Amino acid sequence: MNSQTKICQNCEKDFQIDPEDFEFYEKINVPPPTFCPECRMIRRMVVSNERSLYKISCGLCGKNIISMYHQKVSFPVYCIDCWQSDKWEAIQYGYNYNFSKSFFEQLFELKQKVPRIALLQQGNMANSEYTNRASNNNNCYLIFRANFNENCCYSHPINNSRDCFDCLNSQKSGVTHY
Ligand SMILES: [Zn+2]
Ligand SMILES: [Zn+2]
Repeated sequence: MNSQTKICQNCEKDFQIDPEDFEFYEKINVPPPTFCPECRMIRRMVVSNERSLYKISCGLCGKNIISMYHQKVSFPVYCIDCWQSDKWEAIQYGYNYNFSKSFFEQLFELKQKVPRIALLQQGNMANSEYTNRASNNNNCYLIFRANFNENCCYSHPINNSRDCFDCLNSQKSGVTHY
């Protein structure tokens, strides 16, 4: 099959599909894309926000918190303490599967109702509230996918590091081993 130029259904710009792309789509048995590569990338990235943080209030205790979700989302967002507490029951959001509706339609409806945790943080966190997908950090700011760091800022991902700024994919940096 020859290269084809298509119009993106989203941004309405032209994009090209090459012969080897068509071969690949045929191999994995999916139709050719209707969105351009950039719009497809944006769609993939919005599914999992981790680096844009918002000030919101917890949907349960009302405390002002930092969250990876904007205040306008349709589902409740709970602070980490509330989400991990016994103050709410996840099972209360359960309902029977409806075989006359599609699975993804029902999954979408469910995801609009079930509370979500404001930030993914765990372990011993100290003075590191502006972090996400992070555990066991001390005195850190705006680091993501980050574990066991101290005095680190503006980095992604970063692990077991100390006194580091503006790092991309850093491991055990700034740490002296004896
Ligand atoms: Zn597009
Ligand atoms: Zn709360």
